[in-house]
Amino acid sequence: MIRLQRKTRSPSNSYGDQPWGGINSKTVVVIGGGVAGWAAARTLNQLGWQVELHEKSPAAASKGHALLLMENGLRALESMGLKRDLLRKGTEIKFARTRVGGINNSEMLTNCVCLPRNALVNALFLSKGIKLCHDSKVMCVDRDESGSFVKFHDGKIRRADLIVGADGVHSVVRQFVAPDFKIRMGKVQEFVALVPTAEGSFLSSETVRKIHLPEQGLAAGIAPAGPGQEVVWVQFDHQRWCREQQSDDELLETILTNLPSAVTSRIRSSQAVHRWRTCDAVTLDKMSRDNVLLVGDAAHPCLPFTSQGANAALVDAVNLGQALRCHSTMSDAIDQFCVESAATANRHLQAGRTLEREFLSGRMTALPRSASLAVA
Ligand SMILES: Cc1cc2nc3c(=O)[nH]c(=O)nc-3n(C[C@H](O)[C@H](O)[C@H](O)COP(=O)(O)OP(=O)(O)OC[C@H]3O[C@@H](n4cnc5c(N)ncnc54)[C@H](O)[C@@H]3O)c2cc1C
Repeated sequence: MIRLQRKTRSPSNSYGDQPWGGINSKTVVVIGGGVAGWAAARTLNQLGWQVELHEKSPAAASKGHALLLMENGLRALESMGLKRDLLRKGTEIKFARTRVGGINNSEMLTNCVCLPRNALVNALFLSKGIKLCHDSKVMCVDRDESGSFVKFHDGKIRRADLIVGADGVHSVVRQFVAPDFKIRMGKVQEFVALVPTAEGSFLSSETVRKIHLPEQGLAAGIAPAGPGQEVVWVQFDHQRWCREQQSDDELLETILTNLPSAVTSRIRSSQAVHRWRTCDAVTLDKMSRDNVLLVGDAAHPCLPFTSQGANAALVDAVNLGQALRCHSTMSDAIDQFCVESAATANRHLQAGRTLEREFLSGRMTALPRSASLAVA
């Protein structure tokens, strides 16, 4: 991580900044209540900011897949004081057993925890000090002579010292920050389900298992994801397996006929199998405009192989907090944050593309650690 240096700048600049000396109370509107939004909201709240978080889904909505926390994400959680609690809600994964093209491999792992996405979002949730607005869909971010503002579905607008776009891969905030930005569909997609631990499960409580069938452009895995739950996932070469006008159910059934029963029985027992239409995009040159910045998938969609989506979102929050603590003007803090975020996102993107190419070419003879752990 780049070491931040304390800088000062003249009070007036293109952002209309006033120096605030670190933590004087400021207002922030965070858009999106996923991992990135809650991590940013929590961090800013702890810096003394007045935080308002807007989430388009109703309060009861839940998005039920699971995530792998890796070393960088765990470090971020530790700095937020949440790591110990989360270790109880997830499962520490200590072994990976993989079968690639008929060859078995086994490796020990460190700093790897699998847990349901909701457990992570709930742990980041703070009821005190954050104004949470559900059913609050942001239509756009725009600017006028008074600066940037957020416009909601009911026509209301909101201004703040800082606007954080954490509204995911199809971000509307990004349309303001980088209107020409294009994302393309990832070439490898996933079906993901969180299921109750199967009776007599062959899984040890600390092992992730993965099978890769290079000839068929398929891989699948199972991992324990907290007490009484397992996550099961299937990765497939989209071009090879998808037919026009085919429903998700038809596609899944076709794919399952090629996979071992341990995978198919779990997937079939699930009430909710999510299809993750992965996205790929060049790293944004510009992750901010005026006092509006992007975090998480809105800033840098991640390919599935690096298991970095949630981890990168947590790191964004920590980096944003550090930048705001270390700089006396908003513009310096935002600039610092964006430089760090872009550099990291670029590394993840390149790693993800390399692994995607290997998967698609069928030349993945051993599973690199991050590929073997590409869990939902
Ligand atoms: C089915 C599925 C499986 C996944 N599997 C993996 C995986 O295996 N490995 C991995 O690393 N990552 C995976 N991901 C991605 C991972 O979940 C994210 O990278 C990570 O959680 C960070 O997300 P985020 O908070 O940036 O975005 P999101 O989790 O997408 O959250 C964005 C939030 O913003 C809200 N929102 C969107 N638009 C608006 C709006 N206009 N106004 C108000 N609110 C809005 C959304 O409702 C949502 O709650 C998966 C995602 C999905 C959907």
